[in-house]
Amino acid sequence: MIISFVKLPEEAKKILKGYEVVDGNITDEILQKAKVILAFPRTINETIIKKAKNLEAIQTITAGADGLPYSILPRNIKVFSNAGAFNHSVSEHAWALILGVAKMVGRKKAHRTYLLHKKILLILGAGEIGSEIARIGKQAFFMHVIGVSRTFKYPQYFDEKYNPNELSEVISRGDVIVNALPLNKYTERILNYEILRKVKENCIIVNIGRGDTMDEDGIYKLLKERPDVRFATDVFWIKEGREDFDSKLWELDNFMGTLHIAGAGGGEEVMNYAIIEAVKNIRQYLETGKARNPVKFEDYL
Ligand code: NDP
Repeated sequence: MIISFVKLPEEAKKILKGYEVVDGNITDEILQKAKVILAFPRTINETIIKKAKNLEAIQTITAGADGLPYSILPRNIKVFSNAGAFNHSVSEHAWALILGVAKMVGRKKAHRTYLLHKKILLILGAGEIGSEIARIGKQAFFMHVIGVSRTFKYPQYFDEKYNPNELSEVISRGDVIVNALPLNKYTERILNYEILRKVKENCIIVNIGRGDTMDEDGIYKLLKERPDVRFATDVFWIKEGREDFDSKLWELDNFMGTLHIAGAGGGEEVMNYAIIEAVKNIRQYLETGKARNPVKFEDYL
C-alpha cells in the first residue's frame, strides 16, 4: 500500500494506477500496511515509524531530505528525495532574488544597482537546482560560472569546478554567490562568518538551499559591517522545530527575503508538479526496486 500524507492530484493517482493508494484519513491499520510513504520530511515521526511495520521506502515531497528522524529510522528503509522536481521553480526564484538585490527592486529609496553581465557566478551545490541557475547565468548573462560541489550533475554549465574543502579559497571570487546546497551534517553552518567575511566588494549572496547551512549571526554581522554586500534568502533558520521567518535580518537595508516560496511553498502549480515527480519515482521503485535520488543516511548521522 502507498500512503500519501498530502492529497494527490488526479494525474498522480493515474500514475499509481494498479496500486492501493491512501491519501487521507490515515488510521493505525492503514499505517501498518504501508509499503511506501509519501510525505514532507517533518511529518514523519517516531509514532509513524513504529506503526508502519511493513514500510520499505519513504519518498519525500521536498528535494531536501533534511528533517527526517534519521536516528530512529531502521536502516533497511530506503529514503528517496525529490531532487529535480524543483529545478525550474527554484532556479527562477534564485534569479528573482539575485536580480531583486542587484537592482534593489521594490524599495522606495534609490539605491546603486549592480551589473551582472560577464561577472563571476559562484554556485554551491551543483545538483539539479544549482546547475539550472548556472545555465541561466551562462546563457542569459554570459557569466563565468564556478561550482563548489561534491558532484556535478551537469558539468557543462560550469567553467571551473571545486571540492567543498576548497570553498574558503574560492569564496572570494564570486560577484554573485548562490547557495543551493542541501542541509546535511557536512553543510550545516558551512557559511559561517569566517568564510563569509572573505567575499569580495559588492558581492551578492543568495540562499535558496536551507537556512541552517548559514550562520544567521555571521551573515547579520557581515551585512552590518559591509553595506556593499547584499544578501537575499528564501530560506530561514529552524527554531523550536519550525522555520522561523522572524529574523533580525529584516531590519537591514542590504537584505531581501521571501518566505520559503521558491519550491512547494509557492502554491499548487509547483506542488502538483513536485507530487507528480515524486509518484513517478515511487512507481519506478515499486516496479524495479530502484529509484532516483536515494538518500545517504551517513550524510545525516
Ligand atoms: P540535488 O541533490 O540535485 O543537488 C544537491 C547537490 O549538492 C548535489 O550535487 C550534491 O552532491 C551536492 N552536495 C551534497 N552534500 C554536499 C556537501 N556536503 N558539499 C558539497 N556538495 C554537496 O538537489 P536539488 O538541486 O534538487 O536541491 C538542492 C537543495 O535545494 C535541496 O536539498 C533543498 O535544501 C533546497 N531546496 C529549496 C527549495 C526552496 O523552496 N527554497 C525547494 C527545493 C529545494 P551528491 O550528489 O554527492 O549528494
